[in-house]
Amino acid sequence: MTQEIGSFAALGIHPSVLAAVTAVGYEEPSAIQSQAIPVILGGHDMIGQAQTGTGKTAAFALPILSKIDPARKDGPALTLAPTRELALPAATAFETYSKQMPGLTVVAVYGGAPMGPQLKAIRQGAQVIVATPGRLVDHLSRNSALLGTVQYLVLDEADEMLKLGFMDDLEVIFEAMPESRQSVLFSATLPHSIRAIAEKHLREPQHIKVATKTQTVARIEQAHLMVHADQKIAAVLRLLEVEDFDALIAFVRTKQATLDLAAALEAKGYKAAALNGDIAQNQRERVIESLKDGRLDIVVATDVAARGLDVSRITHVFNVDMPYDPESYVHRIGRTGRAGREGRALLLVTPRERRMLQVIERVTNQKVAEARLPNAQQVLDARIKKLTNSLSPLVADAEASHGELLDKLVADIGCSPRALAAALLRKATNGQALTLAEVEKEQPLVPTSSPRERSDRPERSGDRERRAPVPLAEGRARCRSPLGARDGIAARNLLGAILNEGGLAREAIGRIQVRDSFSLVELPEEGLERLLGKLKDTRVGGKQLKLRRYRED
Ligand code: AMP
Repeated sequence: MTQEIGSFAALGIHPSVLAAVTAVGYEEPSAIQSQAIPVILGGHDMIGQAQTGTGKTAAFALPILSKIDPARKDGPALTLAPTRELALPAATAFETYSKQMPGLTVVAVYGGAPMGPQLKAIRQGAQVIVATPGRLVDHLSRNSALLGTVQYLVLDEADEMLKLGFMDDLEVIFEAMPESRQSVLFSATLPHSIRAIAEKHLREPQHIKVATKTQTVARIEQAHLMVHADQKIAAVLRLLEVEDFDALIAFVRTKQATLDLAAALEAKGYKAAALNGDIAQNQRERVIESLKDGRLDIVVATDVAARGLDVSRITHVFNVDMPYDPESYVHRIGRTGRAGREGRALLLVTPRERRMLQVIERVTNQKVAEARLPNAQQVLDARIKKLTNSLSPLVADAEASHGELLDKLVADIGCSPRALAAALLRKATNGQALTLAEVEKEQPLVPTSSPRERSDRPERSGDRERRAPVPLAEGRARCRSPLGARDGIAARNLLGAILNEGGLAREAIGRIQVRDSFSLVELPEEGLERLLGKLKDTRVGGKQLKLRRYRED
């Protein structure tokens, strides 16, 4: 199975990049990677239609790194991403994939951080620059020749950049780069505005799209759960407490993740094993046999390793990591519901993967209902039920075999039979929490699906029609800018500027109301003064933002 990594090699990526990919534990290229990598390596401009979760970052980072000689400073590769939140992971991805390329420098350029070190890194010839448009334009306004040698350009999440009002900034950036560069544009959607950019600034781009034909999924009850990436293992453990499963397969993306999750499950007493591309064929067969005959109940696998796995005992599929495309989702969940049985499939979704969930729903033509993490009471009920089920077959003949001993122990210890039974229970349950108060204490998970976050993109809150005064949510402050619609300002311009310069997460910004001669923006109360300080010199549409705390009374 290890030859799968060969399929990355077959795409033509450089051996040092390949070595880094192997170290990360990717087993095979995702669909967008298989298509985009040869095109970018071939030197063509490209438009890729793909959203977060498809593996698109590696789809451009791997071929671009393959073209860079770390020993030289020929001119950088520039990646533009809409927000700091998206730029930072892209910069980290470049760093990860260039681990075997000593001398290669990556710099992240975004608002809310000092400009000096960013400028220095660019000037010293960082081969990879990942930037948000607003901050890059700031740099350009002081150093107009800064991008004069860019060789490769990536526009990541181009539609998002336009939604955030960066059209003008992008034009400034395009003007500052040589026309001889190679340009690659990734966007989840291709509205007219994106096509227009491509027409103007890309040269005979090749179009790439991961085909999404409608898929049918039958008999499988599907649900999704919103969860932060670092809480996935805890969420799986909690869900398993209440799920009534026979055998279960959990899908993750990397070899390391198979090992981590399998180890966490084993530590909780589940009969679990990892299945990944490193596992030898005979060992793999043993794992599958054990899952069939009940020596194992849970297998944690990558897509590659689970290929061809057909075990009718499987009642549950947990998609712990998002699949790359709807086809592999359908493929994965098809592992359950075999032999005419009912199956259940659960998908963990991190906040940034929400769009992928929507794509899956569209392609499968089904809603994937939202599940909630079981609460403490449900966990407790499930534990007591399991205990009841495991004890009830034993009571019938226990008195005959152990009754006398019980009487003796009661007499020797000098306690009541109830006290002794309680002590035995404590011992048998290994100190597991079995009261509501104790279970509550072990429930530290934070659900992500608060109604606020689910209302998605904050720019919507700028809709003109929703103008009635709204009470402020707790922890938020209302701020005012003297810029309004008559200055040509839209909510998305304000949002883009504040996200970039303020270094905030999108969720942190509440309602934005643009009136004719001023605008109101809801910002977090905590750290407000510092934030306003950071935004002191921010300009939107060429004019000073001048954001101040706004008091209605
Ligand atoms: P992206 O769509 O670029 O945000 O990538 C989503 C996630 O998939 C990231 O966590 C990557 O590390 C991971 N990933 C990308 N390509 C692969 C691959 N070929 N195999 C396994 N994981 C991957």
